[in-house]
Amino acid sequence: MENFNNGITRRERAVTDREEIVRILDKCQVIHIGMLDGEEVYVIPMNYGYVLEEDQLTFYVHGAKKGRKMDVVMANPKVSFEMECDVNPFSGKTACQYGTSYSCIMGKGIASIVENPEEKLGALSVMMKTQTGKEFTFTEKMASIVNVIKIEVTGYSVKKRPVPGTQES
Ligand SMILES: Cc1cc2nc3c(=O)[nH]c(=O)nc-3n(C[C@H](O)[C@H](O)[C@H](O)COP(=O)(O)OP(=O)(O)OC[C@H]3O[C@@H](n4cnc5c(N)ncnc54)[C@H](O)[C@@H]3O)c2cc1C
Repeated sequence: MENFNNGITRRERAVTDREEIVRILDKCQVIHIGMLDGEEVYVIPMNYGYVLEEDQLTFYVHGAKKGRKMDVVMANPKVSFEMECDVNPFSGKTACQYGTSYSCIMGKGIASIVENPEEKLGALSVMMKTQTGKEFTFTEKMASIVNVIKIEVTGYSVKKRPVPGTQES
């Protein structure tokens, strides 16, 4: 897994603690997936589920079987992604003291459409667990109306900008 943390600046902290990374993955709810549609960049927001096993992070998203993202992913499986949570604007006496605190994950991966029926059912349950915290099961009939895209993450970084003057800053 590639380490992307090099460019993280003074006011923004690299997050390496696994528990904190899991907290952020549980909280963000929406992933922005960037794809390359020929010469054009195409970014879409989607809800996701994730699995973090040892060092390997995998996302699952689901949607209609037809549409631009499916065409793009099938033509070029390389994707980038970003998600954020804990977004809180803060203010100050001068314009330069205004800002936004946040927790953020971004990275890149390889997308594929999940064809294995067992993996597809599992992926839909994972998505519901991430999104709702609850256990749901699916039948093959329910799953048959959607496509599930798996993103195997090949590198990611996590960073956090705390509110200035708080314990974390
Ligand atoms: C918070 C959030 C969560 C979402 N979660 C999911 C999800 O879990 N699963 C899912 O399938 N979809 C989700 N969507 C919708 C998703 O962003 C796409 O609109 C949808 O998946 C269709 O993508 P497509 O490439 O097939 O679009 P197409 O219908 O093929 O797109 C045609 C054109 O419509 C425009 N378009 C597509 N999507 C959007 C958009 N979101 N906003 C503005 N213009 C758009 C673009 O110009 C695109 O070229 C979510 C959207 C939001 C905002």
